Amino acid sequence: MDEATDLPRLVVATANPHKVAEIEVVLAGLVVLEPRPDHVGEVVEDGDTMEANARLKAVAICAATGRPAVADDSGLEVDALGGAPGVRSSNFAFDEGLGAADDDDEANVERLLRELDGLDDGRRTARLRTVALVRWPDGRETIATGTVEGRIAAAPSGGGGFGYDPVFVPVEGDGRTFAEMGDEKHAISHRGRAFRDLARRLSSG
Ligand code: IMP
Repeated sequence: MDEATDLPRLVVATANPHKVAEIEVVLAGLVVLEPRPDHVGEVVEDGDTMEANARLKAVAICAATGRPAVADDSGLEVDALGGAPGVRSSNFAFDEGLGAADDDDEANVERLLRELDGLDDGRRTARLRTVALVRWPDGRETIATGTVEGRIAAAPSGGGGFGYDPVFVPVEGDGRTFAEMGDEKHAISHRGRAFRDLARRLSSG
């Protein structure tokens, strides 16, 4: 508990300041967030699912700090690729073994467009998914998910966002990619939805 606010304190597993800021907005009034301590090393994310990876991160932080921890894991699921890249989204080009680095957004998008080359719009359906998970020190978990449906554009457009944003066109939008939508993305994004779902679960005890 935070003494000043009487709210639970959660340690955030991500060190990415943009993600922390996004999470903070959604969970304001329900929990107080603490930054990930410097002494906790990188967690190897080798789970088979996004939930498993979120759990690996939350469990590591919870074990290192003795406090409840919140972690999230996201990915892109493309129907024509049987749900790939999914949990391997950040390593999609790296996994090809052709020399791309891990977490290379541009190379990932390039591989995706190559794999979908020639497919018409109706067969380019995809979704972005986030799993958000709180691990409590007694071993309990609170788990939430969020998705946004869309399709993969034939070519990248827009300078905002990250990852697959330049080629992800949400169904609920007006034809722009996430990379062209700026902050409008947050209202419908998988991450926003997962953390709003988490907020509902935390507030209902
Ligand atoms: P993370 O679990 O949030 O680090 O996401 C893993 C990977 O999924 C990222 O490296 C991106 O390739 C992809 N990804 C996650 N969120 C987004 C998003 O909001 N837009 C586009 N790609 C995303």
